[in-house]
Amino acid sequence: MKINRRDFASAVLASTGAIAVRGQEPKLSGASPREVVLRGRVVCVTEELQQRYHVAADCDRRGHLYAVKTTDGELFAFLPTDAAAAIYLDERCRERELQVTSRLFPDLGMIEVIRLQSWKQGRLHNLFYFCEVCNIRTHKPGPCDCCQDPVEFREIAVAEDEEER
Ligand SMILES: [Zn+2]
Ligand SMILES: [Zn+2]
Repeated sequence: MKINRRDFASAVLASTGAIAVRGQEPKLSGASPREVVLRGRVVCVTEELQQRYHVAADCDRRGHLYAVKTTDGELFAFLPTDAAAAIYLDERCRERELQVTSRLFPDLGMIEVIRLQSWKQGRLHNLFYFCEVCNIRTHKPGPCDCCQDPVEFREIAVAEDEEER
């Protein structure tokens, strides 16, 4: 029997009681999502909790749960959306001090990425990927949507980037 991913996910959530009835909205306390700009570095939540609370991390097999750890030490986990793909796929994004414009779901402590930028030598930089052939930008690594050539990582100071465009 073939189960599609969405049905499987709903079934899992229903069986754990996280969602009582299929089709209902997840129960959040009512704090509305809001746009926030967070500055910090990428960490794996599971590993952070392993260090602090001895959570039995199994990242090698289960994958990392990435979060931005702000300069205040707060953790906000990235929802695995397409806009966050570069965090998962490109080590360079995880090594940098980031500025993450995002939508925060306060009840969950999770963020949906809107834009990724970096801080380097005290200057804010735009992070993106570029296809030389097609002269187009994208937000994640991999083959260009248009010509299928690999896109290149770019990090350009915001002021210079605006001049260029
Ligand atoms: Zn991990
Ligand atoms: Zn291209």
